[in-house]
Amino acid sequence: MYFEVPALPYPMDALEPIISSKTIGLHYEQHHKGYMKKLRAAVEATPEAGKSLEDIVRTSQGEVFNNAAQVYNHTFFWHSMKPGGGGVPPKGPVLDFLNRDFGGWEGFRSQFIAAGMARFGSGWAWLVLEDGKGKILSTADAQTPLTTSAKPLLTADVWEHAYYLDYQNRRDTFLELFCDRLINWDFVRKNLNT
Ligand code: MN
Repeated sequence: MYFEVPALPYPMDALEPIISSKTIGLHYEQHHKGYMKKLRAAVEATPEAGKSLEDIVRTSQGEVFNNAAQVYNHTFFWHSMKPGGGGVPPKGPVLDFLNRDFGGWEGFRSQFIAAGMARFGSGWAWLVLEDGKGKILSTADAQTPLTTSAKPLLTADVWEHAYYLDYQNRRDTFLELFCDRLINWDFVRKNLNT
């Protein structure tokens, strides 16, 4: 399994002014690494320790699942964003995909934001590929599409710790800015192709 959280794909201040370096610092250093620390403690000296992170997520329950899935989801979230990202994807396979399954960028955007807003409490908004079709869904707490037949393509963390320092209760503003200025479409394209 992965005993270390992977490095952030950009410096902590790279997503400013959308997400502050303070938020990224706490989120990555305390929350993400905190889940890994608890996971390590829980699987140490058990057969789980020899498995990959994905295998642990797919086969565990309770505390081990919660921490493993949160490690996986957060790494996926960091890669779902990049400085200067978001907005209408460039002409190509991702834009074709959004046009085919969501009636375009605007359709995708409104469904993705609605899914994140409809999640009561903590969780995640996702763009996934299921049975060859693009779908938007949300998961509660640590739940992840990795345990289903749906392939994750993109995610936004809608736990309050993801946005509260910068936007307080305005999760809608956070999700709008995520869509308009942060989405890493290269990551979506790569996930569509693998
Ligand atoms: Mn988080």
